[in-house]
Amino acid sequence: MRLYNTLTKTIEEFVPNEAGKVKMYTCGPTVYHFAHIGNLRTYLMEDVLEKFLRYAGYEVTRVMNVTDVGHLTSDGDTGEDKMLKGAKREHKTVLEIADFYEKAFFDDCSRLNIRRPDIVQPATGCIDVFIQIIAALLERGYAYIADGNVYFDTSKAKDYDALSGHNTEELKVGVRDDVSEDPNKRNKSDFVLWFTKSKFEDQELKWESPWGLGYPGWHIECSGISIRYLGERLDIHCGGVDNIFPHHTNEIAQSEAYLGHKWCNYWFHVQHLNDETGKMSKSKGEFLTLSLLESKGYDPMAYRLFCLQSHYRKPLTFSYANLDNAAAAYVKLARRVAGLSAEGPIDAGALERYRAAFIDAVGQDLNTAQGLTVLYDMLKDASLGDATKRAIVSDFDRVFSLDLTKRPAEEKTPAADETDAWILQKIAERAEAKRAKNYALADAIRAELLEKGIVLTDTKDGTTYSR
Ligand SMILES: [Zn+2]
Repeated sequence: MRLYNTLTKTIEEFVPNEAGKVKMYTCGPTVYHFAHIGNLRTYLMEDVLEKFLRYAGYEVTRVMNVTDVGHLTSDGDTGEDKMLKGAKREHKTVLEIADFYEKAFFDDCSRLNIRRPDIVQPATGCIDVFIQIIAALLERGYAYIADGNVYFDTSKAKDYDALSGHNTEELKVGVRDDVSEDPNKRNKSDFVLWFTKSKFEDQELKWESPWGLGYPGWHIECSGISIRYLGERLDIHCGGVDNIFPHHTNEIAQSEAYLGHKWCNYWFHVQHLNDETGKMSKSKGEFLTLSLLESKGYDPMAYRLFCLQSHYRKPLTFSYANLDNAAAAYVKLARRVAGLSAEGPIDAGALERYRAAFIDAVGQDLNTAQGLTVLYDMLKDASLGDATKRAIVSDFDRVFSLDLTKRPAEEKTPAADETDAWILQKIAERAEAKRAKNYALADAIRAELLEKGIVLTDTKDGTTYSR
């Protein structure tokens, strides 16, 4: 497989440290709130990467952390602890919040057919590992203590800016406006490994350490958890592009200072999902969760297809109109597959040929859109029988995970009531519901049509539809 590597800024042939085996680490959620669909895009594309590697024959071990302590509202060690913020908001303890939102996260993942990583480790379960690494960093002169906190000295790190591509000049002026100066830091980019005292609010969860009662910084969690479960040499580290700096930059600095050699060979980053106004964030506008989409009648598989249709390294623009198109495409595709008879011989040669074409397509820097093209072309291939087509769809779906062969048989044929007159009647009912400000009913009507592969488009001259 060829894969873009953020570290080298080039597309490279993927070669794991040990032939046939892949050690993969992915930054997990900070469990203080629901994940928005932009976060889920990252986990979804990481899932596709993992499944494609397995499909291509690798044995993959994937580890993910769950951040339940130490992640401040700014990635640069300032602001409030996110977990504490969540606890206050809901008048619960930090552990109750962590438990609730961790379950909610994996529930979202399962509805999107995102496989649970082999190992999922909450940060609070690895405090001993973090302490051991921090002690070694202090002993080797990579860290220092100031006002009770332990900091990593980034001026000691070899090639600190390699991943981010920042230069020292940019770092001097600061990359984020919300990072306020911490007078304890020797260098602006230094970061906290262990907090005992800080100017921030008191922490609910604290542990004994050689430096006093305290809690770990966010960055050390991922290095510690990865090294604990995957050892000293990692093949692929994944995350969203917003993790490149400072999080992943700091992970590399501390891991390599601790290990004394290169840590991870490939860095895989998924681009943002934006809404039409720009970056999607939890603080602006409608909080887009998977549950919200479902309440509007969308099948999670429509969102999965929406993500697969575009390249993970390109920003993806979310709008309901775009999602409607994906939802209609999903219904159409699922029906097409449901209409394939499972009876008859399977052409093993064709299966191998299409497998090779699929690996070729998706293997080019996880080009899922090209993989879908191979699927559509195969469905049009007149030389193949139904059973063979069905077998190939099922094979590709090991990577896509779109449940394409699991759709009920009643979707084989369009319902008889999908006449133009019926659709126009529905459009009129929806317009009436909107006038009466009954948006739930309006959404339900739109969703009902979408289920049948009919997409409504609202224009200033009224609503049009397409199949
Ligand atoms: Zn991380």
